[in-house]
Amino acid sequence: MATLDLFNTLSGTVQPLSAVGAPELRMYCCGPTVYDYGHIGNFRTFLHVDVLRRFLRQQGVAIRYVMNITDVDDKIIRNAASAGLPIAEYARPFETAFFEDLEALGIERPEIIARATECIPEMVALVEQLAAKEFAYQAEDGSWYFRVARDEDYGKLAKKDLDQIEDGARIESGEFNKDAVRDFALWKAVKALPDGSKEASWQTPLGDGRPGWHLECSAMASKFLGDTFDLHAGGEDLMFPHHENEIAQSESATGKLFARHWMHVRFLLVEGKKMSKSEGNFYTLRDLLLRGHRVSALRFLLISVPYRHQLNFTFEDLAASANAIDRLRTFHKRMVKGADPKSIAPFAEGINPAIEEGTTQAAELYTAALANDLNTAEARAAIFDLVRAANTATDQGTLLRGNAVQILAVLDLFDGVFAVLKDRDAELTRAALVWAEKENRLNEADPALLETLAFSDAEIDALVAERTLAKKQRNFARADAIRNDLLGKGILLEDAKDGVRWKRK
Ligand code: AMP
Ligand code: ZN
Repeated sequence: MATLDLFNTLSGTVQPLSAVGAPELRMYCCGPTVYDYGHIGNFRTFLHVDVLRRFLRQQGVAIRYVMNITDVDDKIIRNAASAGLPIAEYARPFETAFFEDLEALGIERPEIIARATECIPEMVALVEQLAAKEFAYQAEDGSWYFRVARDEDYGKLAKKDLDQIEDGARIESGEFNKDAVRDFALWKAVKALPDGSKEASWQTPLGDGRPGWHLECSAMASKFLGDTFDLHAGGEDLMFPHHENEIAQSESATGKLFARHWMHVRFLLVEGKKMSKSEGNFYTLRDLLLRGHRVSALRFLLISVPYRHQLNFTFEDLAASANAIDRLRTFHKRMVKGADPKSIAPFAEGINPAIEEGTTQAAELYTAALANDLNTAEARAAIFDLVRAANTATDQGTLLRGNAVQILAVLDLFDGVFAVLKDRDAELTRAALVWAEKENRLNEADPALLETLAFSDAEIDALVAERTLAKKQRNFARADAIRNDLLGKGILLEDAKDGVRWKRK
């Protein structure tokens, strides 16, 4: 069986994805435009690419993953100007926030991050190559355009023919003197800002200006991955015109196939609607954390619906996702204790063959589901079936220590891709509160959250130690006061044989 069969938008079929002609699978995903914080729809796309990458690695495939950062575009230029900042100064904090969000969501960092503003020479060279072959021309205002009519297979990704494109094409503001409406900008000549000053631009052999967005991705993908590479990914909205234009530019310039495989992640809707600020249903990760939702629940929810299905985000599903994670973590702890011969109550020695078979089967189902076009829903179901069966067997005393060891290995496999077992939720919520305080946005935080997170982990540890000492010194009033104080902040103490444990409610 193939390592991974993945739907390819270009061929319209599910095909094996593999590294061709290189030891590493070379892949590219269109990254964020850093004019604001990323929203949960953006992260759904990056999360599914993370699932793909983690699964491939689990299958022994080495990867070279490139993500671009679009750090110059109309919105950045406009917002920077109204904030009175140079574009880099305006965009950098959002880029930093983006990487913090990726880290919080458990999305592994791509091997290569490329900023558009640092690859201008490669973009200029690509336009020059296109111009030499008469695919690019300069209009009167100094901007450069791609001559779509000269590209015979234009439309092959989105399956559109040229007439359709002609009808649907729009002239964007400031785009005059193009030869044809469907021609798209490669390089935009510098313009004046509303206040009369000059917008951000680069002096190049193409003239004074800046790159178009499509050009950025073509140039950056080839710079780091070569003319032809294995996989190009992005959200479904990018298929046309962005990805179609990337193909047109790169293939017209090189005469070679650009990306072999195209993966498009379908959109996230919120309560059945497109997310938008005016609808009041627009959420960033930070918004959700301040409202008391957990990062792990969001990750789990966003990846549990397979990437080729739209996801309708609801708060009900987010709560259900948090419950599912609790169940999984509790089960994991139960197996860890049972598998450890030195724990208070290890399971009886041996392996129950029926459970062993069920465990092997769960692992096989899990792998087969992901190998089949990343069916995360089935992969998850296989593991939850195992959890249910193993919990029942444990209650009945038929699950033995050897079974627990095997089950833990399967949970590890699952968590290698889903990455929700390790509990960093409180720590990440605390980081969001620290950020909100710095940004003067603590008023957006759920007041109950502020209560439970009033103490840091280190402060709680110190109070617990103080309580233990108070008890030793028979100062029970002080010991009880500490316990009640912590309880009031939602922190529960548990007296166990090996000391005191605490958890947040
Ligand atoms: P942007 O910063 O808008 O260029 O988007 C970054 C990535 O997020 C792109 O791959 C988009 O296709 C993707 N994206 C944007 N909105 C959504 C959404 N609602 N659901 C899923 N992906 C999205
Ligand atoms: Zn792109």
